[in-house]
Amino acid sequence: MKNTAGPFFATEMEMLGKAMAVLARGFADLPAAPEPAFDRDAMEAVLLEAAQRLQDNFPYFHPLYAGQMLKPPHPVARLAYALAMTVNPNNHALDGGRASSAMEKEAVATLAGMIGWDNHLGHLTGGGTMANLEALWVAGRLHPGRRVLASTQAHYTHARLSEVLGLPFTAVPADRRGRLDLDALDRELARGDVGTVVATIGTTATGAVDPLPGILERRARHGFRVHADAAYGGYFRLLAGEPADGLGSDARAAFQRLGEADSLVVDPHKHGLQPYGCGCILFRDPSVGRFYRHDSPYTYFSSSALHLGEISLECSRPGAAAVALWATQRLLPPVPGGAFARDLARGREAALGLYERLRADRAFLTAFPPELDIVVWAMRAPSVTAASARARAVFEEAGRRGLHLALAGLPVSFFDLEGAGMATDAGTITCLRSVLMKPEHLAWLDRLWDLLRTSL
Ligand SMILES: *Cc1c(COP(=O)(O)O)cnc(C)c1O
Repeated sequence: MKNTAGPFFATEMEMLGKAMAVLARGFADLPAAPEPAFDRDAMEAVLLEAAQRLQDNFPYFHPLYAGQMLKPPHPVARLAYALAMTVNPNNHALDGGRASSAMEKEAVATLAGMIGWDNHLGHLTGGGTMANLEALWVAGRLHPGRRVLASTQAHYTHARLSEVLGLPFTAVPADRRGRLDLDALDRELARGDVGTVVATIGTTATGAVDPLPGILERRARHGFRVHADAAYGGYFRLLAGEPADGLGSDARAAFQRLGEADSLVVDPHKHGLQPYGCGCILFRDPSVGRFYRHDSPYTYFSSSALHLGEISLECSRPGAAAVALWATQRLLPPVPGGAFARDLARGREAALGLYERLRADRAFLTAFPPELDIVVWAMRAPSVTAASARARAVFEEAGRRGLHLALAGLPVSFFDLEGAGMATDAGTITCLRSVLMKPEHLAWLDRLWDLLRTSL
């Protein structure tokens, strides 16, 4: 099959050449330096070998890849990244990257604007885990020794990050729809030692949105910090305006109040069309910047302006990541009703479409309608153990036929097993999972469905 939707298209190289020529003009006054000597043939051979090796990957960029949370970077992102890499700026300090630091501040302000913050403190990070680490670190500084709570469906790293920070952590049960259970939260709050509640705005496994309004109401009474982990789901804020945009009422209510969280993490490398290495932490109150103060003798501050290195835990960071995000936002501003938001809505529509087909088909057992763009479903079988084995078999067979899905181990409580006449012989059921985060998934839904059906 000739693949035109592949990772690179011909005109990309042409565009990059033009952009590199413009960049080079800025340094044209430098005395000529000899081109570094390299063995062109040896280099090409190594590159071709790498290309061979890289064939051992699932086709993440293709619509038939409908498994894990993987979305190809926008071409403008990878071109801007490649362009910036020729300078290789370091956004730790202004000496390391003046232009890319300014672009990072603009890009981060755009993300803050997406949740309605004019005033904020924030920066890019290597990813969501680093960003959550910073959020929990600041939370721990403000509430030393007090517990961090997150639901059992929250990202697994919250428990580990709390351990790294020396903060006690408790997992709060999730309800049957994978959202943090407010009654269970009340029982934990009654103990009076909670410093932080993590609200997952789009869980990684199922895209469930925690009940943020209920959590905020409890914050008013108990005074804990609310950290919104919207690493995967944050951009869906763009669809929270009108019911016509397709978010359910509970998710919409949570997204509309996202700006009331004390801190927020969103991963541009998840839904924001960026290459890996791009997370973002935002704080609503910029004064938490005081905790970051350091006096590094290595950081040769050449200006009195605020350095990104003064407000981040990581030291060296790729300026290229900021340039890529800046370029993407310039082309596709993350605003309600814009092209970027419309593409998000297409993925969600594809997820709803897949869910409806699964629900109407006796071969499958659905859990709950997708809140964002992740669909999970079980195979109907006499027992949970048999259903898990069936899911693994379908996963393998679909892969052989070119449809790449994912597997997820979910609590059996997400399913009406009794109604389906299935014996509950295990507490966790292996399910099939599909993250329909590419807008093309909508047009490919019939193909995906046919491949799934023929894999049974
Ligand atoms: C992906 C994800 C993370 C971790 O982010 P990385 O970028 O993989 O480090 C944290 N929380 C949620 C909800 C996520 O979906």
